[in-house]
Amino acid sequence: MKNDATVNGTLVAADWVLPVASPAIKHGAVAVHEGQIAWVGKLEEAPAEVAGWPIERHAGILTPGLVNGHTHLQYTGFVELGRGSYTSFEHWSEEFEVFYDAVTDPAEWGVAAREGAQLALRSGSTAFAEIVTDEPARGTLAGFGLQGIEYLEAIGETEARWGSGGREAFTAWLDQASECVVGVSPHAPYSLDGEVIRELTELARARGMRIHSHVGESSVEASLYDFGNRDVLEIYGDMRDEFALIRGGGTGLSTARYAESIDLLGRDSHLAHGIYLDRADRDLLRETGTRVALCPRSNRVIGLAAAPVGDYLREGHEFAVGTDSLSSSPSLDLLADVAALAELATAQGYADDDLHERLLAAATLGGAAVLGRDDLGALRAGMRADLAVFDVRVAEGEDARRALVERGEGSCTLTVIGGTVRFTRGAIVSA
Ligand SMILES: [Zn+2]
Repeated sequence: MKNDATVNGTLVAADWVLPVASPAIKHGAVAVHEGQIAWVGKLEEAPAEVAGWPIERHAGILTPGLVNGHTHLQYTGFVELGRGSYTSFEHWSEEFEVFYDAVTDPAEWGVAAREGAQLALRSGSTAFAEIVTDEPARGTLAGFGLQGIEYLEAIGETEARWGSGGREAFTAWLDQASECVVGVSPHAPYSLDGEVIRELTELARARGMRIHSHVGESSVEASLYDFGNRDVLEIYGDMRDEFALIRGGGTGLSTARYAESIDLLGRDSHLAHGIYLDRADRDLLRETGTRVALCPRSNRVIGLAAAPVGDYLREGHEFAVGTDSLSSSPSLDLLADVAALAELATAQGYADDDLHERLLAAATLGGAAVLGRDDLGALRAGMRADLAVFDVRVAEGEDARRALVERGEGSCTLTVIGGTVRFTRGAIVSA
């Protein structure tokens, strides 16, 4: 199969097909027609309409394209930062600022984002919840045919700054023409005044846009919302004293309650990390339909507590998985984070036999849900033909889903988006 080839009018077959929303199929195939899935099943049972089509056979496991629930592709150049180790979120943030300030040519953000898109394509990801902080990084998803949302980020806006030009500048940015679906990312409830976040969510909802923020990532942010502890705002220097939470001495609310009070929760919103949330906070997320994107390898690099994936599973949450960026993660290979979640869940005492099934669902359907998409994340007639193949051999009697979770990292051999081959064994179809 060649790059920029299409698989339209083809039966893409593999040793195993994992449709995600239905049971695994041994010697399965997917029939692709005009960028969509026309049929999924056992190859030998292909119906007359597709049985005569050419067959592309692959070793290993065929899945829906993976959906990365949290990235910042513009930080793909910050590899050295991601290779470090840190004692806290605040420690990492200080180092991050050094890297960020060292980028003097804004065009570098676009170059880095495009590199990131290529890396992600090489590991089977086809859709992203992508945060854009600097304009040159915009347009990357569309450039590679990737699906998803580019969330424009607001950060460091106090009411005063927002009122003296911030509001107009952000609104104009939001309303620029875009090839990609646009969303709004209030960076975090600590880095923007609550009133500003309320306005940002209003701007988003008035435009039918989705919302994505970082919540529960720092071990000390809860103490800011509760009683005005300024530790999480250390990197803002003197500016930190301008934030309403510092001036007012906090709100007495827990992290999720505070996020709710500034309109950040809801079915149209998802949160990155969600580590430092207690049971009541997690329950509030579930009750409001707010999903979390867990990024376990990023948490490990930054020196944070482990993502409480065992709790999220036991408490009946549906969640997504994200790699975060190379500024805090070793790679953009989403299956490496899925494997990390499986290890964590087991260490946290989750022993139900649906573990691998649910984690793969999180990396596909869970991601599609946080993007507000019902045409991605599963193999079913009528869905987009976004596919990935992983060269993972499944032993006799072994669960194919478990094999993929445990050995999928680095094994992608084919990535297809909307029926078009975007990556195949070592070569990339450029934008
Ligand atoms: Zn992030």
